[in-house]
Amino acid sequence: MPGVGKSLQVQVQELAASMGVPDVQLRLSARRRTTVSAFRESGVVVISAPVRIRGDELLPLAEQLLGRLITQAQGKYPTDELLAQRARELARRWLPPGHPEAVSVRWTGAQVRVWGTCVADDGAIRLSNRLRAMPDYVVDYVILHELVHLVHTDHGAAFDAMLAAFPERDRARGFLDGVTWSSQQGESDYISAQQMDLFGQS
Ligand SMILES: [Zn+2]
Repeated sequence: MPGVGKSLQVQVQELAASMGVPDVQLRLSARRRTTVSAFRESGVVVISAPVRIRGDELLPLAEQLLGRLITQAQGKYPTDELLAQRARELARRWLPPGHPEAVSVRWTGAQVRVWGTCVADDGAIRLSNRLRAMPDYVVDYVILHELVHLVHTDHGAAFDAMLAAFPERDRARGFLDGVTWSSQQGESDYISAQQMDLFGQS
């Protein structure tokens, strides 16, 4: 990755983080001349811009586009209260009777590398904001996964057996594996990111 592109990537990441968008990817395209666009792809926000753009040109546009994406997303995902309610319903439906309840289930922008966490001691579950753009069955799976951690701290056979009743378990795992894989491609392979753009939006 050229030095200029890398520092732009960092600037865009800092801007996005300041706006509450934890994960953003800058794609610079040689084919683009003037247009800058922002869109979601597998739960990650992608900003696509011409390869020769300067920071002082890109950043105000990126701020505008990110602001628009955030506004669009508002109201399209469940609030923390609805998440807690959903966790209770999922537990009732798919986990053994008497399974401990989470004291709280909340979104967080702090988790970029993991989908969810559970503090077994106090039963607080946190879900990564990145899940908001994903299908409901994936969010449901992560909630159930964290709920099971209230009883089993590892991912052993007993953990798995408790999740086995959830019919979308394997599909959700496959979805999350795919998202992880594609985001790693984006980070490690700048050329392929540029080429992907040729087949994507113009
Ligand atoms: Zn786990």
